[in-house]
Amino acid sequence: SMRLLSLTIDGFKSFANKTTIKFEEGMTGIVGPNGSGKSNIIEAIRWVMGEQSARHLRGDKMVDVIFNGSAGRVPLNRALVSITFDNSDHYLASDFNELTITRKLFRNGDSEYLLNGNKVRLKDIVDLFIDSGLGRESFSIISQGRIEAIFNGKPEDRRAIIETVAGVAKYRKNKQTAERR
Ligand code: ATP
Ligand code: MG
Repeated sequence: SMRLLSLTIDGFKSFANKTTIKFEEGMTGIVGPNGSGKSNIIEAIRWVMGEQSARHLRGDKMVDVIFNGSAGRVPLNRALVSITFDNSDHYLASDFNELTITRKLFRNGDSEYLLNGNKVRLKDIVDLFIDSGLGRESFSIISQGRIEAIFNGKPEDRRAIIETVAGVAKYRKNKQTAERR
């Protein structure tokens, strides 16, 4: 059934060397000393699923995610992250049994999204995850600050969260699109 199979990080943040993490069934824990890149792994997942805010990735500009050098190691010219899901139950709206999403960003600002090797638009990635409970706007990745924001949020913001979790956000979006016509 729908689950994360693997993540490849290449030139993103502290990952100067191409690194692939395979996820087994069940729970995965990531451990390591301070500054070793645990949060960067989570941010790589956010990023490949379409995150558009550099600030949410602890940067000023989006190109800050590209490996910017370390002792004895020159900066790289592009960041690449790939994520692969088992989609054999077609939980995500696609006929493919496995889905690999890739995002690339070059220092000159050029960027690219691929779905199973084919160039797609950001919108295609966002649509794939809409109402899945995953994706850049989802609550499947929750940071400390976000929990506080939910508890202290305005009622209408909390309503938006409940609608997203309940899977009705899509209908609101379609309704708005229809009303604009
Ligand atoms: P903690 O246990 O303190 O939360 P962590 O394992 O979550 O640590 P991260 O925050 O993921 O660590 O990694 C921080 C490291 O990533 C820092 O050493 C920082 O310099 C490095 N880093 C961040 N962005 C880049 C970049 N663009 N290029 C190179 N290194 C980067
Ligand atoms: Mg951390």
